[in-house]
Amino acid sequence: MSYLSRYGLDRANAARWLPDTVRVISVACDYGKPSPNRVRLLQDSTRGYIAQYALGRDYHRVMRKKLRQLAAELAQQGRPHGYRVFVDSGPVMEKPLAQNAGLGWIGKHTNLIAPHSGSYFFLGEILTTLPLALDVAEVDHCGRCRACLEICPTRAIVKPYQLDARRCIAYLTIENRGPIPTELRPLIGNRIFGCDDCQLICPMNKFARKHTLAEFSPRSDLLAPELATLMGWSATEFDEKTRGSALRRVGYHGWLRNVAVALGNAPTSPEVLSALSGQANHPNPLVREHVTWALSQHRQPARHGLPSPS
Ligand code: SF4
Repeated sequence: MSYLSRYGLDRANAARWLPDTVRVISVACDYGKPSPNRVRLLQDSTRGYIAQYALGRDYHRVMRKKLRQLAAELAQQGRPHGYRVFVDSGPVMEKPLAQNAGLGWIGKHTNLIAPHSGSYFFLGEILTTLPLALDVAEVDHCGRCRACLEICPTRAIVKPYQLDARRCIAYLTIENRGPIPTELRPLIGNRIFGCDDCQLICPMNKFARKHTLAEFSPRSDLLAPELATLMGWSATEFDEKTRGSALRRVGYHGWLRNVAVALGNAPTSPEVLSALSGQANHPNPLVREHVTWALSQHRQPARHGLPSPS
């Protein structure tokens, strides 16, 4: 998350990124809520849970294309303007901008929540030189609810509206390039790429809608993948199977690191032990250390009531 310090106060200065910017068009695009089957998957520790947003095509590309189309259409309607689009890309403070644009409010879990569609959506922005009419900012509707603070597996929401990214599973399993702290590994369960828990528990998501773009349809092979199979992926397989997906952001070694942690949290079985043992001598030290940790979890006496591996 070095971009936070890299861009500093420039993040609040849209004109720094497009001279003569007078408005920011904030856009939300639903990716849909997890199905009941996917929620149950969190209890099946032989399979990996991938955050809902990452199951379809990489939203960065999809949203950027749509935003450019929207900006071009505005220009074609006789409103020539300078513009620049952003999708989750460094310098733009997307959530405060979206709140000011009336799209929703920043909930206690720090995600944006739309009053009539919950929080399962992507955000994107068009910086423009067009002096469009201003919208009215949305207000906070969290009230006395604290459900997200209490459900967070790693207690990353340290107080309302304050997230400790160093504890957040989304950060630990995606942006983080190094080791996952050992004390947090057992709390991660079978979450191998991101986490939806604070959104799953949020009562506002009873209003969540289905995805509207075909590009965000979940890929069937990612809905409930077997951890033991994922651990056996070669770099080439990772490359092929994650083409066009946001999963690529984690990189092959980060992927194996995450799967190893989940296998360390899985019930001891011949399949689990064989999958881990197969990568025990992996040339990458990050992967090797996480596999060693995972195997050590299965050497705990009488773990899950099954015999220890020899
Ligand atoms: S779970 Fe409750 S406190 Fe957390 S964001 Fe949703 S409404 Fe707000």
